[in-house]
Amino acid sequence: MTSPVNSPTASRIAHSQHHGASPEYAVVLAHVSKTYVTASEATTRRALIDVSVQIPKGQIVAIIGPSGCGKTTFLRLLTGEHAPDAGGSIAVLGVNPASSPATLRAHIGYVPQHYLLSRQLTVWDALHFVASLYDVPYRGRQERLEGILHSVRLERREHGHKLPRQLSGGQLRRLALACALVHEPDLVIADEPTAGLDPVTRKEIWDHFRDMRDHRPSRTFLVATQHLDEVEHCDLVLMFKAGRVVYYGPPPGLLRLAVGGYALVVEVERPDAVKAFSALQTLPIVRDIRTSARFPGVLYLTVDLESTSSSEGNQTMIANGAQSRTTIDAGEACRALVLAKLKESGFTNPQVVLQAPSYDEAFSILTK
Ligand code: ADP
Ligand code: MG
Repeated sequence: MTSPVNSPTASRIAHSQHHGASPEYAVVLAHVSKTYVTASEATTRRALIDVSVQIPKGQIVAIIGPSGCGKTTFLRLLTGEHAPDAGGSIAVLGVNPASSPATLRAHIGYVPQHYLLSRQLTVWDALHFVASLYDVPYRGRQERLEGILHSVRLERREHGHKLPRQLSGGQLRRLALACALVHEPDLVIADEPTAGLDPVTRKEIWDHFRDMRDHRPSRTFLVATQHLDEVEHCDLVLMFKAGRVVYYGPPPGLLRLAVGGYALVVEVERPDAVKAFSALQTLPIVRDIRTSARFPGVLYLTVDLESTSSSEGNQTMIANGAQSRTTIDAGEACRALVLAKLKESGFTNPQVVLQAPSYDEAFSILTK
C-alpha cells in the first residue's frame, strides 16, 4: 500500500528537518517507533512502528484508526509524556519534546477526553486556575478569559458561576477546550474530544477548532477521533493501523486509496454497452472496467489520473498545505475525460456519475 510518508519526497523533507527548526512545519517525525515495556518487563508492545510524517502549520488534522492502533501514543510522544525508541527523531514546533517538555508545554494546549480539573471549581475559577498555572499576566487576564469563554460559547455572565455538574456534556467538553486555550497555544492536541457527544455537539466542537484556526491561521490542531464522519471537517487525515501510518493526506484521498482510484458508474443504452466498453478500454486513466449481468447498460469503472496516482504528488500537495479540493477535482477530471471519450465515440447522452464510498466504508476497507 502506498503512503505519501514513504515517498522519496517525504524522506527528503524529513531529512532536511533534522538540521534545525522548520518555520513551516508544526510537527516532524522521522522514523519514530514506540515500544511499551510492561512493568515486569516480561512483554513488550510495539505501539508505533517507523512513523515519518510532516505536519504543516495551520492545518487541522484528524488522527484516525481502530482502537489500539496508536493514536494516543502518537499524541503522547508529541507532548513529551512518553519518549520514543532510540533511532527516530521528533520535532514539535522545532523542539524535541522528550528533551524539553517544559519549554514546549507553554506552546501546546492539550484537550483531554475527560475533564480533569476539580469539580468544585466554577467555570470562571477553573479558567483562572489554569491561567495561574501558565503564568498568564494579571494585566488583561480577565478580558482574555472572557474572550475565550465567548469563543466556546460559554459566556461568563451566563455560565461563569456554574459548577461542572451544572453543565451539559457538550458544555463541559467546551470548558475543557477553553482551559486548553488559556495560554494561546500554537498547537492544540485533542484526544477524542468528541467521544460520547451527539452529532450536533460534535459538529460544534469542530466548528470551534476551525474558528480558532481562522482566528490565528498558523495554529495547528491534531484531533484524534473515532467518528469517521468527522474527517470531513479537517484539512488532513492521518490514519494508523496497528502502529503504522496507512494514509496521510487530504480527506478525499482516503476514499481514493480505499477504492484504488475513483469509482465511476457509466450508463448507456443497453445495445451500446459493448461499444462503450471497447472505447473506454483505450483511455489511459481507466484501470478497471466491470459489467453487471443484472444491469446490462451499466459499466463500473475504476479510474485514476497518472499525475496524481504517485504518492509523491500527494506529498507535494500536503507540503503546500493544499486543501482537499485538489483531490475532488481529480475525480471530476476523470469523469470529464470519460464523458468526452464517450461523446467522441458517438454516444449522445451517456450518464457518468462519480461515486464516492462513505468514509465509514473506506475505513472498513482500509482496516481489513
Ligand atoms: P489508541 O489511542 O489508538 O486506542 P493507544 O496508543 O492507546 O491506541 O495504544 C496503542 C497500543 O499500545 C495498544 O496495543 C495499547 O494496548 C498499547 N499501550 C498503550 N499505552 C500503553 C502503556 N502505557 N503500556 C503498555 N502498553 C500500552
Ligand atoms: Mg486513544
